[in-house]
Amino acid sequence: MKIRIVGGGPAGLYFATLMKRSDPGHDVAVFERGPRDATWGFGVVFSDRALEFLRADDEATYRLLMPLMETWPNLTIAHSDTRIPIAGNGFAAVGRLELLNALEAQAESLGVRLVFGRGIASLDDPALAGADLVVAANGAFSWVRDENKDKFGTETDLRTNRFIWYGTSKVFDSLSLTFRTTEHGVFCAHHYRYSPRMSTFLVEVTDATWRRAGFADMSEADTIRHCERVFARDLDGEPILSNKSFWRQFPAISNRQWSFGNVVLMGDALRTAHFSIGSGTRLAMEDAIALWKALRDAGSLPEALALYQERRLPPMKKIWDAANVSIRWYEGMDTLMALPAVDFAYSYMTRTGRVDHAEVRRRDPGLAAAYEAAHPELA
Ligand SMILES: Cc1cc2nc3c(=O)[nH]c(=O)nc-3n(C[C@H](O)[C@H](O)[C@H](O)COP(=O)(O)OP(=O)(O)OC[C@H]3O[C@@H](n4cnc5c(N)ncnc54)[C@H](O)[C@@H]3O)c2cc1C
Repeated sequence: MKIRIVGGGPAGLYFATLMKRSDPGHDVAVFERGPRDATWGFGVVFSDRALEFLRADDEATYRLLMPLMETWPNLTIAHSDTRIPIAGNGFAAVGRLELLNALEAQAESLGVRLVFGRGIASLDDPALAGADLVVAANGAFSWVRDENKDKFGTETDLRTNRFIWYGTSKVFDSLSLTFRTTEHGVFCAHHYRYSPRMSTFLVEVTDATWRRAGFADMSEADTIRHCERVFARDLDGEPILSNKSFWRQFPAISNRQWSFGNVVLMGDALRTAHFSIGSGTRLAMEDAIALWKALRDAGSLPEALALYQERRLPPMKKIWDAANVSIRWYEGMDTLMALPAVDFAYSYMTRTGRVDHAEVRRRDPGLAAAYEAAHPELA
């Protein structure tokens, strides 16, 4: 097959690898508009069982990526200065650039052609000519999807909170969520180490807080200084660092139809999952596995594309639904901060409905006991 992939993020690179590995006769090329060795953002986190989802289908990639991961067994919720460690929540994190470099090297070693600095702006681009399959893996702002939104049945729900993806040289010892109340409203930082020297430091606020703080008209340097002041006690004097960082609102995207003709959506182009559940990269890689298997199992391309959607939708939707509930929890953080610290942490743990009281007790008996003490009706 002649396969042309628009976008060299985790979805595109991983799909290219799976296809080329399963049949070296495939002609697979990935077109990435950015240069090699550069990307946006800092580290990304994988929740729960980290890369276990890869193991059954692809031990080689599991072994390639696991050594790059920072892992830790606990999560910490900081409600102002009260820190509540919560056991039983394993997480792993990796620098986005390190992840991409490893996936690129693996793809190239198999004979995938990676073309950097080559944006594709139209399905008529000569780079896609004669392709049996065109994969739109060009991220949340995919023009392939947006220009064909009627065919895909695209729905975009631009959520109200504002977030900015920073890093810091302060190295944290667990995945942490720190909430601090200021005169403008509550600030939340999602922060975690992703290498021995660096941490992600993502700041999220409600739209009202963002406006009251004056971020709309604030320079990049002043924005960093403002966030450093809010989280001074958490940063211990280490700086906040920017990497093409700017305030954004999260677009919750979904598509009723995942393909038309020989064009198929994958990864964030197909659906976005809020960063608070740490699953976007995993979902992108699982999409790649699903399409690869559908192509392996089906008799023709149309059948394969239908099978991809049919098989992948149910497990994907479970996580997507949880992500959308999680978004709303953060949108209510100013009200939630009025809760006592233990209730706040408990509310966080149970926010998506996938963790009930019995599960909290299983993961962290201490938190369950503290919550029961405050809520005797549960004991
Ligand atoms: C603030 C933030 C924090 C996040 N944190 C996490 C996290 O902790 N854990 C997690 O799992 N996920 C996280 N994510 C989500 C994660 O980054 C994405 O889900 C994941 O990168 C999706 O992979 P992808 O390959 O589909 O898209 P992307 O990684 O976005 O890659 C798309 C690629 O396509 C390229 N491209 C775009 N347009 C074109 C074009 N016209 N021509 C050629 N190339 C093009 C882009 O340059 C990019 O390299 C976060 C996202 C954000 C925004």
